[in-house]
Amino acid sequence: MKVALRYQELFENRHNNADEADRQAMLSEIGVKSVEELISQTIPSAIRRGQSLNLPPAQTEFQFLDEFKKLASQNKVYKSYIGTGYYDTFTPNVILRNILENPAWYTAYTPYQAEISQGRLEMLLNFQTLIIELTGLEIANASLLDEATAAAEALHLLHALKKGAKAKADTFFVSDRCHPQTIDLLHTRATPIGVKILVGDHRTIDLTNENIFGALLQYPATDGAVFDYSDWIASAHELDIKVVVAADLLALTLLTPPGEMGADVVVGSAQRFGVPMGYGGPHAGYFATKDEYKRQMPGRLIGVSVDAEGNRALRMALQTREQHIRREKATSNICTAQVLLSVMAAAYAVYHGPEGLKKIAQRTHALTQLTALALKGLGYEVLTEAFFDTIRVKVADESVVKAATEAAEINLRYFGDHTVGISFDETKTYPDAVQLIGIFSTLVSKSVNLDEVESALSWEFNEVLTRQSAFLTNPVFNTHHSEHEMLRYLKSLENKDLSLVHSMISLGSCTMKLNATTEMIPVTWPEFGKLHPFAPKDQAAGYQTLFKNLNDWLCEITGFAAMSLQPNSGAQGEYAGLMVIRAYHEARGNTHRNIALIPASAHGTNPASAVMAGMKVVVTKTDENGNIDLADLKAKAEQYSENLSCLMVTYPSTHGVFEESIIEICQLIHEHGGQVYMDGANMNAQVGLTSPGTIGADVCHLNLHKTFCIPHGGGGPGMGPIGVAAHLAPFLPGHAVVSGVGGDQAISAVSAAPYGSASILTISYAYIAMMGGEGLTHATQTAILNANYIKARLEPHFPVLYVGSQGRCAHEMILDCRPFKQSAGIEAEDIAKRLMDYGFHAPTLSFPVAGTLMVEPTESESKAELDRFCDAMIAIRNEIAEVEAGEADKSVNVLKMAPHTQSVVLVDSWNRPYTREKAVFPLPYVKASKFWPTVSRIDSAYGDRNLICACPPLEEYATAE
Ligand SMILES: *Cc1c(COP(=O)(O)O)cnc(C)c1O
Repeated sequence: MKVALRYQELFENRHNNADEADRQAMLSEIGVKSVEELISQTIPSAIRRGQSLNLPPAQTEFQFLDEFKKLASQNKVYKSYIGTGYYDTFTPNVILRNILENPAWYTAYTPYQAEISQGRLEMLLNFQTLIIELTGLEIANASLLDEATAAAEALHLLHALKKGAKAKADTFFVSDRCHPQTIDLLHTRATPIGVKILVGDHRTIDLTNENIFGALLQYPATDGAVFDYSDWIASAHELDIKVVVAADLLALTLLTPPGEMGADVVVGSAQRFGVPMGYGGPHAGYFATKDEYKRQMPGRLIGVSVDAEGNRALRMALQTREQHIRREKATSNICTAQVLLSVMAAAYAVYHGPEGLKKIAQRTHALTQLTALALKGLGYEVLTEAFFDTIRVKVADESVVKAATEAAEINLRYFGDHTVGISFDETKTYPDAVQLIGIFSTLVSKSVNLDEVESALSWEFNEVLTRQSAFLTNPVFNTHHSEHEMLRYLKSLENKDLSLVHSMISLGSCTMKLNATTEMIPVTWPEFGKLHPFAPKDQAAGYQTLFKNLNDWLCEITGFAAMSLQPNSGAQGEYAGLMVIRAYHEARGNTHRNIALIPASAHGTNPASAVMAGMKVVVTKTDENGNIDLADLKAKAEQYSENLSCLMVTYPSTHGVFEESIIEICQLIHEHGGQVYMDGANMNAQVGLTSPGTIGADVCHLNLHKTFCIPHGGGGPGMGPIGVAAHLAPFLPGHAVVSGVGGDQAISAVSAAPYGSASILTISYAYIAMMGGEGLTHATQTAILNANYIKARLEPHFPVLYVGSQGRCAHEMILDCRPFKQSAGIEAEDIAKRLMDYGFHAPTLSFPVAGTLMVEPTESESKAELDRFCDAMIAIRNEIAEVEAGEADKSVNVLKMAPHTQSVVLVDSWNRPYTREKAVFPLPYVKASKFWPTVSRIDSAYGDRNLICACPPLEEYATAE
């Protein structure tokens, strides 16, 4: 009775594979008696943490939501007129429920396995089309992290393109009318690569300065002014200066696109296309440029190609130029981007269509104009002449305006020079404008006749600034405007994609664990979604508590002294951490310390981030066991001792092994005056058992979208906060607009928003709150148990590369597929594609070792699911054996021809040397629940030779059909 009275359903039992009988069966398959025995064989005792995690007691799912609602209600949702790059918007409910709140969309992975990702690839192609057509440029990628980092990527691009007379130019001009957070971030990103930022008035700047190689303008400007930049850009071009324009997408439905004004690159944010402000994110940054620069463009590009049957099929284009191939030659470190948010923005455009978007923009503009004219009528000086949605108004006393508007739960922007900014958006109505005008009228005890004002409204853009060109003429933007059409369109795309709602996705290094429904629920609460990142802090008390607790918890988990929640991806975390190390060395007068030692097996973002942080990369060897080659590391640490900045090391290693020598490695680096940067992507093997702090690292980023349950979203969003030891805490990044962020010697910002993608921190918060210290520790143990179980089952069939000294893997393992090339002509990719026929997404392909598969099951998979996966892998091994034995054809076999679509097998004349049943129902479970790939093997090279990265416009559509 006593027990029953206090029984609580533990969330950890929903998150972890926790069935006791299964656990026993798995342990005996592995050949150990207990989980503790397995762990002690896996993790060197020298690095085990002394104490168990000291975290608040685990909450049940329902307790958590109750408590969290109270915390959320401490956030005050005021009407935002702050603008500055963030605008309130309505997420159409059909998109809210069917994309943002739908695990089929949010649990998908980056579409590397394109044959089972055609749905989101289609929507990303829509996104690229949207960006191309609104900006008037030729090519666009499928999102960057935010507007400010997109501007920085543009700077990097132009810097890399410099040639001729400009080859040595080192100055990038930035209009002082750009958003302040963008200017701040450009300072961060320019300094380490030796670029100077020159901020000034674009109307008076002397462009003949031969050091200027590029420029950034804002359109409309941060204070709302709309300038015709055509002549300016033309004269810049004459001087061989390339121009980036940061542009607002909604404005571009009415205004002449920057591409038509001659801009070389256009960047910005797609936030106001249906994505909540979320106190800073996540939102999709966009990047568009000219066709001639496509090979230097950062981020991922979706393109059209064909499959083995000659059907149209989409996939990521130009993959060979991606950052992980270029490594230390990379100019960008973008890996995780903002796929889910670009999918939402594209869906928003599909739902509204060009006419709907224009109407929204026109209403927004009309309300702004009404307000501007009314304020003028009241005697206010409105400083903005031509504007779209934002005006800047002179006021006698900003604090009086602030008090009056905040009393009415309204936020304006305060420039601090007796002017205020007022930005309208999609959500604002006529009564909202009337209310705001009313406040301004009370302040001066005057009134204005709004009917008269209204009759004076006009479309006052001059002809040059009025958009003449059509946009979004493709049928996809013109047919799904009723909710039924939209619902069915979204469903049709969803059905093409394999995600965690179908089966385990065992992507090594990516940690595709459960993204629990309870963790996801608060993300779409308006208390989190509707806050502007620059809203007064006293309106964000709920968020501040969330940040504080999450900081404390992550410090406890990592063993560090302080955290920064600003970096909005793992790679941004790397960059932030390296910049902090750089600042630390500089503060001690060691500006010369610029060498980053990076093992050959490191993730491609590591060297890319180091280069962006102004470091020189020295690659160190790995030994035949996959460990860091200690002798080589020692030699290089000595050789570069004088200039050593840091070592970047992944732990457990990218090979899935806890290296015994890690403590020694950290000491060695410290002895040579360097810092240890730990890539925390593999934190899922550490939580509760060891920690970066215990091991001796100085900085570490956490991929919250891996270890801490933020779903991958099909390639973003993510969050990559960094933890640091006490001596580095003073340098944690600050923010130009929001005070009280970062350390007291803070480096400038690494993201546009002070707390990165704040609204999804709720997910990691929920995870930790519901798991508690014990639950988290069990998760790590279970992740290691699950991995070693798979290893035990698959080892007789596939060689496992690299294991620890006692034969165990950590939370992932590498299956060597290279021998099959020799024995049967079968490559790892064939196995990856064949897994689709079995209903599985492939493990990580060819990272960190070419020709291998890296399997990471995570703690959230049951024994039944692990067995299903192992059965599939073993069956595939038998299929390989048939080829080896000459029983199956060498080129026309189930592996080489995989994946099999319905249209391939449902034909009257079947002439392949294997049966259709074998092709599509290779094991009994597949018959019971079949996932059908919608295209067969995609020919990537074809699409790269004939690069098409947008939906055809209407006129071409007819001929294309
Ligand atoms: C995922 C990953 C990264 C990059 O993280 P993003 O969030 O994609 O930028 C870096 N290192 C390793 C080992 C990873 O697995």
